[in-house]
Amino acid sequence: MNTDKLSVRLETVAKYVPKDSRLADIGSDHAYLPSYLAKNGQISFGIAGEVAQGPFQSAEKNVMAEGLTELISVRMGDGLEVIQPGDADCISIAGMGGSLIASILENGKEKLAAVKRLVLQPNINAIAIRDWLIDNHWELIAEEIIEEDNKIYEILVAEKGEPLKPYRDVHLETGRLVGPFLLQRKENAFKKKWSLEKKNWLRIYKQLEGAPQSPENEVKKQEILGKIALVEGVLDNEKSEWS
Ligand code: SAM
Repeated sequence: MNTDKLSVRLETVAKYVPKDSRLADIGSDHAYLPSYLAKNGQISFGIAGEVAQGPFQSAEKNVMAEGLTELISVRMGDGLEVIQPGDADCISIAGMGGSLIASILENGKEKLAAVKRLVLQPNINAIAIRDWLIDNHWELIAEEIIEEDNKIYEILVAEKGEPLKPYRDVHLETGRLVGPFLLQRKENAFKKKWSLEKKNWLRIYKQLEGAPQSPENEVKKQEILGKIALVEGVLDNEKSEWS
């Protein structure tokens, strides 16, 4: 990957950044995403935010090497503290766990007033983001699921709106877990992801059954059974090579 050729994962994130955006890419590492978008004339301004010294320096180095310092500001800081209200109208956060992405949004809520779009790519636990969006009046407007190098990634796109609108035609609990748009499309990567998750939960359930029984253990078992039931409902009647 470089500033000319993104991974399929980041290319999918890039696709959802509106043309002429003022983009803040949080957790930008090498600043590949804002650099790629700036070089292709897709953004009018970019901020590459990084909390860690090494990735911050890689981002600075790349932006300088590409001659993009006028267009991209590389800033060191935790989450949304690198932006001032009004600095950005689109925020991307990619390549982290869903809980971390949700906590970055939660801790920087006051910076979101002028932001029109969020493009979020959790590596795991996308439900934490869907729940944050619902609780904070953001409407999921699109979802993608892709497989690259044997890993499956979800991309969630949100704008301010009616948070429950995408869940109108689906079972809410299932939609929060697997994604309301992805649930309706049931692409191969989706079926593979949830078949593998189900296998993993069954393994954990068996381990819990073999462990000394306690009220906590029972709660965990019930939670897992609940998730397995939701996913079985989704995969029902779907012939899958992974199940
Ligand atoms: N966004 C790039 C991508 O998707 O390829 C880089 C992903 S990398 C796995 C995650 C990056 O997020 C790391 O460079 C890490 O330092 C940064 N990061 C983690 N927590 C952060 C936070 N609270 N604020 C800013 N950056 C953070």
